[in-house]
Amino acid sequence: MMPTIIDDVMARKILDSRGNWTIEVDVTTKGGFGRCAAPSGASTGKFEVVSFPDSSVDKALLEIEETIAPRLIGMDSKEQEAVDSLLKELDGTENFSNIGGNTAVAISLANAKAAASSYGIPLYRHLGGNSPTEMPFPLGNVIGGGAHASNAPDIQEFLVIPIGAKNVSEAVAINSKAHKKTKETILRKGKAALGKGDEGAWAPALKDEEALELLFKVCESISDETGVKVRLGMDVAASVLWDSRKKKYVYRGEKRKRSRESQIEHIQDLIERYELYYVEDPVEENDFDGFAELTKSAKCLICGDDLYATNAKRIEEGVKKRASNAVLIKPNQCGTLTDTLKAVNTAKKHNLTPVFSHRSGETTDETIAHLAVALGCPIIKTGVVGGERIAKLNELIRISEELAESRMAPLPLLGG
Ligand code: PEP
Ligand code: MG
Repeated sequence: MMPTIIDDVMARKILDSRGNWTIEVDVTTKGGFGRCAAPSGASTGKFEVVSFPDSSVDKALLEIEETIAPRLIGMDSKEQEAVDSLLKELDGTENFSNIGGNTAVAISLANAKAAASSYGIPLYRHLGGNSPTEMPFPLGNVIGGGAHASNAPDIQEFLVIPIGAKNVSEAVAINSKAHKKTKETILRKGKAALGKGDEGAWAPALKDEEALELLFKVCESISDETGVKVRLGMDVAASVLWDSRKKKYVYRGEKRKRSRESQIEHIQDLIERYELYYVEDPVEENDFDGFAELTKSAKCLICGDDLYATNAKRIEEGVKKRASNAVLIKPNQCGTLTDTLKAVNTAKKHNLTPVFSHRSGETTDETIAHLAVALGCPIIKTGVVGGERIAKLNELIRISEELAESRMAPLPLLGG
């Protein structure tokens, strides 16, 4: 009997890191087992698929039990495209509004893991063949605000990336050093009630530029102390700041609004002053031309998250308009592994850097660590601390141990 044939599909409700219900799916084959839980966003983009039918995890569970599982049982888990096509067919819409994108992504990835397990190999090898040897650099959120915290900066994420790290263990250690040192520095400034945002980043009552200034100094001192160069990044998550009626970006902390032009100038200024290596969603999700203006002028990665929503067609549009030089990849923005692969391949074909990413609401599911390695993404954005974040980072350590020849992926734009 073929070990990859699907025997059973079952789903349950589990908690995510915000304490909300999400879905976890188990796929059992004749010879293996795969489990995957879906994450959830807080600053979700307009072009993402719908998470759950009528926002109900219970409805998703019912859909699986009554209609999806009976159709999947007997299929071959190694035929990933057939499984993903069935999910689309059963949904019948463009945006998974009937079965839910989170339902689809949990099934799709649990299926891939079940196929890998049926062959007795890890997921990164099942999807990446014998070729994966390059490990992604962890891009980690150290200070957070925006939709992920309150009484904190307007910009959603202030990130670090240890571009000089020689291996994954060194890289994650450097990021956690930055997280610790940032806490000490904030406390020294007298900001006593120091809380954390949804992704485990510190959420102090600082203005954007104070946060950047502080983190810039932290990174400089860590680079000096360890000899490992650390650079800064940020996810502006500008769609959250954008008031589409007034056509202004609203910065509550600074008590000011910025026009589209002034937003672009502001970001250009921050990139220069803080030598940013990475900037995500600097303008709102419809503004391909604003992205393009920044990409043309900036010597850093300009990454589209809400802009593309892991959608190959939108990435193609971005390519035509030269909107960005990097693409954020979040499987639950599109709903299937097949469409995630399409998005990564479209990005790579046009020399855009794919950056694999967690969501702000996560579980201890480690799947994205395997996907980042298998799909050859040189950067993975997955936080620094917290059980649901280290689940991915620790899995990267295990993967790099298994890959005897592993080395860090070459990073773009470093002029080496
Ligand atoms: C992001 O915007 O990149 C992010 C991880 O946040 P969320 O999951 O809330 O969209
Ligand atoms: Mg983002």
